[in-house]
Amino acid sequence: MKNLTLLVIEDEEAIRDMLRFSLPHNEFKLIDAENTSKAMDILSYKIPDLIILDWMLPDKSGIDFIKQIRKQDITKDIPIIMLTAKAEEDNKIMGLMMGADDYVTKPFSPNELAARIRTVMRRGLIKSPSSDIKIDDLILNSEKCSVSIHSILLKLTPIEYKLLYFFMLHTDKIYTRDQLINHIWGRNAYINERTIDVQVKRLRQKLKPHGYHNRIKTIRNAGYIFSRNDHDKT
Ligand code: CA
Repeated sequence: MKNLTLLVIEDEEAIRDMLRFSLPHNEFKLIDAENTSKAMDILSYKIPDLIILDWMLPDKSGIDFIKQIRKQDITKDIPIIMLTAKAEEDNKIMGLMMGADDYVTKPFSPNELAARIRTVMRRGLIKSPSSDIKIDDLILNSEKCSVSIHSILLKLTPIEYKLLYFFMLHTDKIYTRDQLINHIWGRNAYINERTIDVQVKRLRQKLKPHGYHNRIKTIRNAGYIFSRNDHDKT
């Protein structure tokens, strides 16, 4: 079995450290977020196998976060295990009603959490998202962070990769330069809109030898759109 990627959303550093240290490394790969906005940034380029979600977070409650990700196609099937404090008994029921798959009460042992994760993953109801995203012969593998066309690997920079990943997950929808900046660099980045144009241009150049550059279209006074179908093919 491949390593499971876990996204841990927890504002208490001690718990994040404890998990990173104690969960078996040959079984789980951890990505951390100390709040939900950081988690959303991560989800824009990486889909984990499972989310460990703390109930009380500084910027948004666990419930609101679940609502938010269950609304989006690409994130709606990610299994979630909630972490709740003992005093928050009602939250467990609420969380399960809202679509969490299980919960663990703090304080908990890493062994207990690992067992819960295995159970949730075994349940089989859970569709573990495939790591390949395919659009015709364009294949992006989010496990290996690789992109290939007709089995030829493309050499992309990390930013070009994130940009293409975002486009492939969100086809046929116009995104403004500002939205793209938020998704690729994060909400707090000070990136000039011109930078997006430069990155898109470079990405197009790398796709061009394989005939995929026309999928990224510039929409005047709006932004960019990545089309799933090759309308321009003649
Ligand atoms: Ca907390």
